[in-house]
Formats: sequence, structure tokens, C-alpha cells
Amino acid sequence: MIPDLVVLRLGELVLKGRNRHRFEKAVYDQIRRKLKPYTGLTFNRDFGRVYVEINGESYDNIALELKKILGLTSFSPVYTAPLELEAIQTTAVEAMRKIGRIPSSFKVSVRRVNKSFPHDSQEMNKLVSGAVLRVIPELKVNVNQPEVDLRVELREERALIYSQVEEGAGGFPLGTNGKAMLMLSGGIDSPAAGFLAMRQGLTIEAVHFHSYPYTSERSQQKVKDLVSKLSEYGGDIKLHLVPFTNLQTRVHQAYSQNLLITILRRAMFRITEKLAEANDASAIVTGESLGQVASQTLGSMNVIGRAVELPVIQPLICMEKQQIIRIAEMIDTFNISILPHEDCCTLFLPPSPSTNPNLRVVKSIEKQMEWLDQEIDHAVNQTETIWIQAGQASKFSSFF
Ligand code: ATP
Ligand code: MG
Repeated sequence: MIPDLVVLRLGELVLKGRNRHRFEKAVYDQIRRKLKPYTGLTFNRDFGRVYVEINGESYDNIALELKKILGLTSFSPVYTAPLELEAIQTTAVEAMRKIGRIPSSFKVSVRRVNKSFPHDSQEMNKLVSGAVLRVIPELKVNVNQPEVDLRVELREERALIYSQVEEGAGGFPLGTNGKAMLMLSGGIDSPAAGFLAMRQGLTIEAVHFHSYPYTSERSQQKVKDLVSKLSEYGGDIKLHLVPFTNLQTRVHQAYSQNLLITILRRAMFRITEKLAEANDASAIVTGESLGQVASQTLGSMNVIGRAVELPVIQPLICMEKQQIIRIAEMIDTFNISILPHEDCCTLFLPPSPSTNPNLRVVKSIEKQMEWLDQEIDHAVNQTETIWIQAGQASKFSSFF
């Protein structure tokens, strides 16, 4: 037995009053866009739900696409039966079998939309659960907290029957909360931060600093592959590749003590802010996590963040590394991130980077670099911008 329909539940947990309509429309548009290649499908919207008729397309392929739609809370494969008791009972048994194991408990919830159906919902609950128990006698009924809720909807034309609930990506639909620039390295953290930002409804553009030729083309390709993974959730994503070698070398020649990293990171933020302004983004997202490295102490982040006026969003700030890794695995960026690569930040590492820089001192060192503003503008002007599409990840990632 294969499912005839999928029922999709949109953002049940986050919906609030006035935003509801806008939210639902945005998720619905995204569903249509994602499922466009499956030309056999037909769609019906109904009170916060979408019913998709499968019409012979592959449920498994559709389910993979659905898991990447932001704002979609959950979905279920649905089996249909004609409005006849026996057919409904048989289909209900099959739907339970599809779970693939015997759950600890279940209940049947019948909703009779079609009032001409001869049995009311109370009777039907008994008739359907009786049929299931005859075939799977080990099952236990629990009406209060069942592990599986076997739902039967008696519609005008047919009965809809489903028991499995698949988790969706959840969150807010793409782009419903504005746009931000994601500072994306090749590491584990920033792609996870980018995903969380997108799931919060932000459209993102990625900004990557490279020190070509000191950092290789491969490390740039890696970043493109990471963006491609993110774009499976976010549609096509703009990637800004910023050449950082000149600025970095010049700063390093002028100053190579323990505040070097702070100064370079402030320059990165200023460049990102300029790119944000040029692209109508109103925040910067980074993958910082408190205490992870020297530049991620509260003191450092304070001095670095003050280089810009835009809000800096750090979705991972209070997360443990294991939690971050779980997100990276879920969005399939982990295996790309752990490939060996050189980051521009590791090019000129001072012997002991400061964990508690002094803003006044940092500013006075920057002031002596009277060419710094010019180098920042130059880096912005030399930035190469490309669009990255979903599914564009290169094969090279799997060669290591
Ligand atoms: P990640 O795993 O994201 O690289 P990290 O733990 O290695 O993070 P850092 O190297 O200190 O931490 O970088 C902190 C943040 O600064 C990153 O999460 C990212 O947002 C940004 N960043 C670091 N390097 C780059 C780069 N080359 N281009 C763009 N952003 C960067
Ligand atoms: Mg890093």
C-alpha cells in the first residue's frame, strides 16, 4: 500500500494572530516552489493545512523535499479508502502496519465530516480500533497519551487514514523576518548559525573572507559547497567572496602583537557591514559560541562588535559544541566542514592572542593605520559575488 496524499501542517507552534495569513502564504509558496518538479501533484489548502494528492509521484522523494521547508511543522502520509466500513478497517490496519513496529500504545480518532456516513464517530472509533486489535492483538489502547494516534477523517468522497507524523524543519518561513549577512568560514559553526538564522525567517547572503593564494581554491570550493547545502533550505543564496590578503598583510606588517586578531576581525565586520548596506541587509550573523576560542570571550566580542552599528546575531552563543555538531549533521554540512582547509584567520596568528582587548588601545592602533579605511573599501570593491543554487555541491567534497 502506498500513500495517496500527504497532509502538511504549517507552523502550528509559532503562529500568532495577524501574522498567520502572511505566514501561511509564505510557507505555501515555498511548498509549491519546492515541489514544482513533481508535475503530477495537486494541492488543496485548508485551515493551516495543505493536502497534496500524490497521483503516482514518489512519496519518499517528496518527503525529502518537505523536510527542508521552513515553517512546515510536520506532515503525514495519508492512505485513502472508499466510504465503506470494511475498506476503512482494512486500510486502517495497513496504516498501522506501515509504522514498521508495534508501538507501545495507540488510539483511534475518527472525525466525521460527512454526516451521511451511517456510523457516528464514537461507533467508528470502536469499529476501527476493534479491527486493528484483531490483527495486532499485542497493541494496547491508551486514549490519553497514546504513542500513535490513528486518525480517520470521513470526508464527502472518501476516508483519509493516517498514523505516522514526520517532523518538518519548523520555524518561520523563509524571508519573513528580513535579511542578514552570514559571515561564513569553512568551519562547523557558521553554517549551523546560518541555518538557525534562516529558520528564524531571515534571508541570508553569505560573506566569506579568503587569503588567496595563501588559502587554496579548494577552501573556497568548500565554502561554495556549504552554501549549496544551506540553499536547500533557502533557495538560491548570494555568496560574497572577499579578498582579504592585502589588508591582512598590511595590518600584519604594521602590527603583529596580541591584538592582531581583534583588529583583523574588526576589519572583517566593517567590510561585512558595508556589504550589508549595499545589499539591504539589516543584521550580521556569525557562528560565535561563548568561550570557544580567544576571540570569543565576552571581552573580545564586545570590542569586535563595536566596529559596526548593525546588530550582530550569534545564534550559537550559548550552545555547547555537541549541540552545534548535531545541527551541522542534520543539515548535512558537518562532513564538508571537517575536511582539511586553511582559514584566512589562521594565516598570521600572533603568539598569544588577547582574550580581553582594550577598546581604547585597539582604536588607537587602528588610527595609526591611516590607510585602513582605504583597504577596507578596496576589499569591498574587489569582492566577487556569485549565486549558489541548491544541489550544486561539487563532487570534490567526497573525494577526501
Ligand atoms: P566556525 O566553525 O564558524 O569557523 P570558529 O569556532 O572556528 O567558527 P572563529 O574562527 O573564531 O570560530 O570564527 C568566528 C566566526 O567568525 C565564525 O563563526 C564566522 O561567523 C566568522 N568567520 C571566521 N572566519 C571567517 C571567514 N574566513 N570568512 C567569513 N567569516 C568568518
Ligand atoms: Mg573557524
